Amino acid sequence: MAKLKHQQLAILGGEPVRETLLPYGRQWIDEADIEAVVETLKSPFLTQGPKIKAFEEAVAGYAGAKYAVAFSNGTAALHGACFAAGIGEGDEAITTPMTFAASANCVRYCGGNVVFADIEPDTYNIDVNRMKALIGKRTKAVIPVDFTGQPADLDEIMETAKTHNLIVIEDAAHSIGAVYKNRRVGSIADMTMFSFHPVKHVTSGEGGVIVTDSEHFYERLLLFRSHGITRNRDMMHNTGEGEWYYEMHELGFNYRMTDIQAALGLSQLRKLNEFTARRRQIASRYTELLSSIPGIVLPYQKQDRQSSWHLYIIRLELDRLSADRNMIFAALRKENIGVNVHYVPVHLHPYYRRLGCGKGLAPAAESVYEGFITLPLFPAMTETDILDVVSAVEKVIGHYAK
Ligand SMILES: *Cc1c(COP(=O)(O)O)cnc(C)c1O
Repeated sequence: MAKLKHQQLAILGGEPVRETLLPYGRQWIDEADIEAVVETLKSPFLTQGPKIKAFEEAVAGYAGAKYAVAFSNGTAALHGACFAAGIGEGDEAITTPMTFAASANCVRYCGGNVVFADIEPDTYNIDVNRMKALIGKRTKAVIPVDFTGQPADLDEIMETAKTHNLIVIEDAAHSIGAVYKNRRVGSIADMTMFSFHPVKHVTSGEGGVIVTDSEHFYERLLLFRSHGITRNRDMMHNTGEGEWYYEMHELGFNYRMTDIQAALGLSQLRKLNEFTARRRQIASRYTELLSSIPGIVLPYQKQDRQSSWHLYIIRLELDRLSADRNMIFAALRKENIGVNVHYVPVHLHPYYRRLGCGKGLAPAAESVYEGFITLPLFPAMTETDILDVVSAVEKVIGHYAK
């Protein structure tokens, strides 16, 4: 009887698998992080002090890039990268529809047009052949996203970009610590963006960084981050002014990161390898424990790269189930599993529809989206948490299996 009661779905009045909600993601802040922030609060610099420099150097060093520029958040960093790439009115940039809106919006901020290339139905990353077919006279950049932490086909993308004189801005918000053919993400594209939002691998509260090997991009990013103003005397139009003098060369923004954020980010970076290892462990536990459940497709991984596992997404095979994603999502939530959905395909948002996008533009992305459910995944998850998620998926999918 007890067993039967447990088996009844919570959404149908049964007992939930867990008593409290397990979130899909959560930061992990320890005493060392708190001390680092407090120390900065007591220092003379709250913004643009020594912690920014140290954080940038640490991120560049980790990624294997020459330069890093920290921004107030990842979206601002992407905006900066599009500016540095020279995207302007009427230019085009190609990205994937299966991403967070910011990967596309950054092009619009610069007056450029977004072209969406459909995804591979297995990795859910941008399909390079579709990307190639969309390159035209106005194409200036491509913005691949390492979806869920698995690197996109970076060699093919870089080679195509070289042939067509395009700049590659890799949105690596999901993939710090990921490896592509024995190279770290951040050492491959022209510019790579990392996000330090609390849901990502390590956090600075809010924060984003662009890494690059190009001195030209580096200078443009620095200018853009701080109002387009320079104090570099070698760059000045008017020489012979006093020491107080500065010049504004571009319409930049105030996109600076504070030293408080950088202190937190720097302290968190020390735990990145440990956190990533734990994410990989949890992902492989999920794959092991969920692989025998019919009606769901587990994440597909290419052999020549290692994901850093920002997200673990299962895809429902809807023709084998008697419920749709919305029902299964609601049922899992009632079991107190904090599932989520990543992402609404960007081209289907009303804003992009207004610009002429809409259904049919990316059939693979539209189709897989209908079956997507993101399971909880964060380094502080316990084995019990993992087993709860697996039990809930078994229970709910088992109930709706045809
Ligand atoms: C989180 C995220 C961003 C934006 O980063 P913020 O730091 O939140 O501005 C951009 N692209 C993708 C794919 C993301 O997941």
